Amino acid sequence: MTDLADIGSDVSHVERMVETRLPTAYGEFRAVGYLDSRWGHEQIALVYGEVAGTAPLTRLHSECLTGDVFSSTRCDCGDQLAAAMRKVVAEGAGVIIYLKGHEGRGIGLLAKLAAMRLQEDGLDTVEANLALGLPVDARDFGAAARILRDLGVNEVRLLSNNPEKLDSLRRNGIGVTERVPLLVAPNDDNLPYLRTKRERLDHLLPHLA
Ligand SMILES: [Zn+2]
Repeated sequence: MTDLADIGSDVSHVERMVETRLPTAYGEFRAVGYLDSRWGHEQIALVYGEVAGTAPLTRLHSECLTGDVFSSTRCDCGDQLAAAMRKVVAEGAGVIIYLKGHEGRGIGLLAKLAAMRLQEDGLDTVEANLALGLPVDARDFGAAARILRDLGVNEVRLLSNNPEKLDSLRRNGIGVTERVPLLVAPNDDNLPYLRTKRERLDHLLPHLA
């Protein structure tokens, strides 16, 4: 049922709207913009080099305003995004899909801030979402799969530490030929968060003490 729903929701509601050059500090990407009319999300894929018909290095990056824009040290998102862009450029080809609607593993920005507030009282990231009456992980990767297919990509080498993300992508019809770890050095602020991701969310983070 879930699989059918995923595939059914994925057929026609994500439409390519625009494409332009996007020079960045890491290198020059093509920015391809999509409109997900089902959720009203404006999505963007950064494409480097030729990827159609290959299994390119690919990062599905869940948006994180605090980490990506403000460089919060409370999570590892900003560092992961930068590392992914560097790896794609070093490889000569790849895709970064920046997923709107994925704040706080899908609970939204303000709910994520509320969950952070609860973590100041000692709850971990899983307990905090649950205490707010919200799911631990509400993210959907159907739009990402649709965008990859539009780019001519049916299988990827996924930059991720999260086995569930591989499974979600596969359920949406994209092959994952390899998981490429994306490990960044922890700091004092995000170490408890990363340990929770390892111990309660099954993330593969062998570099943590
Ligand atoms: Zn983050």
